[in-house]
Amino acid sequence: MVSKVLIANRGEIALRIQRACREIGVQTVAAHSTADADAMHVRLADESVCIGPPPASQSYLNIPALITACEISGADAIHPGYGFLSENAGFAQIVEEHGLTFIGPTAEHIRLMGDKITAKETMRRLGVPCVPGSEGGVATLEEARRIAGDMGYPVLVKAASGGGGRGMKVARSAEEIDTAFGAARSEAKAAFGDDTVYLEKYLGRPRHIEVQVFGDGAGVAVHLGERDCSLQRRHQKVLEEAPSPVIDAETRARIGGVCAEAVAQMNYRGAGTIEFLYEDGEFFFIEMNTRLQVEHPVTEAIFGIDLVREQLRVASGLGLSVTQADLKVNGHAIEARINAESLPNFAPSPGQITAYHAPGGLGVRMDSGIYAGYAIPPYYDSLIGKLIVHAADRETALARLDRALSELVVVGVETTGPLFTQLLAEPDVRSGDYTIHWLEKWLAR
Ligand code: ADP
Repeated sequence: MVSKVLIANRGEIALRIQRACREIGVQTVAAHSTADADAMHVRLADESVCIGPPPASQSYLNIPALITACEISGADAIHPGYGFLSENAGFAQIVEEHGLTFIGPTAEHIRLMGDKITAKETMRRLGVPCVPGSEGGVATLEEARRIAGDMGYPVLVKAASGGGGRGMKVARSAEEIDTAFGAARSEAKAAFGDDTVYLEKYLGRPRHIEVQVFGDGAGVAVHLGERDCSLQRRHQKVLEEAPSPVIDAETRARIGGVCAEAVAQMNYRGAGTIEFLYEDGEFFFIEMNTRLQVEHPVTEAIFGIDLVREQLRVASGLGLSVTQADLKVNGHAIEARINAESLPNFAPSPGQITAYHAPGGLGVRMDSGIYAGYAIPPYYDSLIGKLIVHAADRETALARLDRALSELVVVGVETTGPLFTQLLAEPDVRSGDYTIHWLEKWLAR
């Protein structure tokens, strides 16, 4: 087993990783910016190393500082969490070149899936159904017009290097393709330094359904069913649940089997998520994330498995602790993302938390690094916690989420907590009848 893990992240996920390590006796080193010196995971880690000033470019994205922190502390592995350097192939490569273990897939697989064009090509070849679209990148406006015309509007122009919903523009008709193509390219160039774009059929009313996979890096892989992340704002997930209210056991086994087989064929190592849009009973691959996802706890709840522990095992060469036959869905889980944001505009609301009470009780998990007196720094993502509930069935899980939300107290900053209480009163949410556009329409009502 790896013996000392440097956690190259912050917030709730850093604490999540620290907890998994502690339970199996692996030492931890919290690598933190000066803004995070008081963070809970820094307090709880065995050691901590300051890696730079508040801006992420000088701390959490500072590769030389992270490698040096490993050398100073004697850490033999790095867990990148999600975001920051987690899907940076160059980082994974440098980590391994320094004789350290990168807790994640190989640099080659991160690179392959990080480019959405090569990701789609690979998945298509491995028998995974994809969204119809251009074969590869689209370099000129003429080509974009021709392909969109042949495919039929609406179309979506997407950045090959895209992420976080950026570099994505819809063209609803031929009049809109010029603007969409130009805007997607310049947004992609500004955000990712790469203006390569491709075209996809724009699906009108899909759900976002993603399959959790896990590979041992040597040809064995399993799937852990799906998560439904259809409630989104600006292409960002707001609430996630597992299993999906619209996927039955047979469909789960079928699409899960396709995904597990694909990653087994690739000799994929570690945790991954294969994302699909799902419409009229059909799955369409959009991208693969080569890391742990924010919403992984809903999968952990229904399968009774610790995915970070599994990552540590696989990174240590111990293989998976489970086989497909061991993995059985048990009940229903829902996650609400608690952001330090003020409603209704979702404006960031950093600042000092003067009082905090976390919900608890049967089937309630609150993953958060906040505490009374903690000051949320303004430099990073606004996610401050994830409230996850698990119950025997969906209806009970909804009631449990409502109950847990009523117990949550965060004073001093505004949070998105009240949004979920309102959502839970909506008949469509209660019945699970929503597409990826439902939340935006509801917010604009
Ligand atoms: P990112 O990497 O930026 O998150 P994704 O490819 O994962 O981009 O897409 C994010 C979200 O954008 C999806 O969950 C969905 O809501 C929307 N989306 C992506 N592709 C399509 C498409 N072809 N049709 C309709 N919506 C799409």
